[in-house]
Formats: sequence, structure tokens, C-alpha cells
Amino acid sequence: MRVVPVPVLHDNYSYLVVDETEAVAAVVDCAEVEPMLAAAQQEGVTITSVLSTHHHYDHIGGNDEIAGKIPVRIYGNADDDGRIPSLTDGVREGDTIHVGGLIARPILVPAHTSGHMAYYFEEQRSVFTGDTLFAAGCGRLFEGDPAQMMSSLAKLNALPDSTKVYCGHEYTVKNLEFAATLEPKNKAIADKLAWAGARRRDGQPTVPSTIGSERTTNPFLRTRNQELRESIQERFPDIGDDDEDIFGATRRLKDDF
Ligand code: ZN
Ligand code: FE
Repeated sequence: MRVVPVPVLHDNYSYLVVDETEAVAAVVDCAEVEPMLAAAQQEGVTITSVLSTHHHYDHIGGNDEIAGKIPVRIYGNADDDGRIPSLTDGVREGDTIHVGGLIARPILVPAHTSGHMAYYFEEQRSVFTGDTLFAAGCGRLFEGDPAQMMSSLAKLNALPDSTKVYCGHEYTVKNLEFAATLEPKNKAIADKLAWAGARRRDGQPTVPSTIGSERTTNPFLRTRNQELRESIQERFPDIGDDDEDIFGATRRLKDDF
């Protein structure tokens, strides 16, 4: 498997997921069609499927156009039929999706939207997380609450350390700047912020991350961390010690950061 990150729109990533042996590819989140067709041509492969993580415009805006141009299966949460344009294959957690010889498993991770799916390629230790898990961040809670986002993130956090994380936006620097305000003593955050800043100045993406890296730098996987809790409790003196409240306050602070 080869994964080609394709920057689209303002700060989104679409991905071309290539099965080299069969020379076919899937697009994860088709927002714009032309850059994906160009990437496929560059790789010498045919796009045969689209995996949609969720129904927001910046993730599915190209579905109708690509379906009109080339023969593709379009996968997405069966419950989002009607919200994901040109859906041909509604899927649920537990199903398998074949991209040539590659196998993807949808993982239901609601809260940013109620039907949000991540796509896990277990054999290749790679997960596409859309707007649920970002490098050092998580999505806004448009259709869910803190408890639901915590359990969605816990599913992703259960994957092996070495799992590569391909997320839906280039938010890494801003997310790490926020993380550093909560854990100023966390060296992993400071180091990764320096690295990510240098990557962006070179015009390079900061994806993929890994689950292991997220565990040490992502405030939304670090609700149990003492320094983070104290920072939150300092800002919200009445908050108490409940994990959901700490997580919710972290999310609210990030909304305004
Ligand atoms: Zn979104
Ligand atoms: Fe998005």
C-alpha cells in the first residue's frame, strides 16, 4: 500500500490509497476531483472507490462529480444515506471494504457528526480519521457530546502505537500550540511543535502521525494527565475532577483558541 496525501481546498487532506499489485486506488474523502485524478495518473493507477468519512462539504463535495466521470463505488455510513452524495455502498462497523487486495474496516466514531466513520487498514497499520482525530486535536462536537467523543477517541486509541494516523486537515501546528498552553512542561509537545513548524515552512505535510505520538501529545487523549488537569482546573475553578468535564472544558477552550 502507498498513501499519497493530496492537499485540497484551504487546509484539507484527501488521500489516494494505492494497491500497487493491482494498480487500483481508493480516494479517502473526495472534496475536489481534478487533484485526485491527477494524483492517480501520476501513480499510474485507476481510482475504483471513494471512502467518505462524513457528510461535511469539505469531505464529500466531489462525490457526485467523480461518480459522473469514472466508474466508482462510494462507501460511507449506511445511516448517512441521503447525506453522503452518490453513496453506492452503505457500510457499518464490522463490514469490510476491498480496495484491490487491501482491506479496510470502518470504525464508527460519532460526535463530530453522528455518522462519522474512520477507515482502518489493519494489515498496513494505517487509519484514516477524517475530522474525529487530528494530529494533536479532535473535531468539534457538532452532533455529539464530550462523552461520545471520548468513547470514539478511545476506539482509535486502542489501536497499536505504530498505527499511522491520516487525518482530514492540516491543523497540527495550531493544535500543538494549544496543547502547549495546557502542558507547558510536556517535551513531546514542544519537540513536535518545533518539528511541525519546520515541516510547514518547507511546504511539507505533517501527516501521517501515529497513535503512539498522539498518546504523548494530543490533549484529547490526555484527559488523565495531571499537568493538563491542573491547567483546566485553574481556568475553571468549579469544574471538579470528572473526566468528561475535564474533556468538555478542554474542547470548549479549543473552540475559542
Ligand atoms: Zn467535518
Ligand atoms: Fe472537515
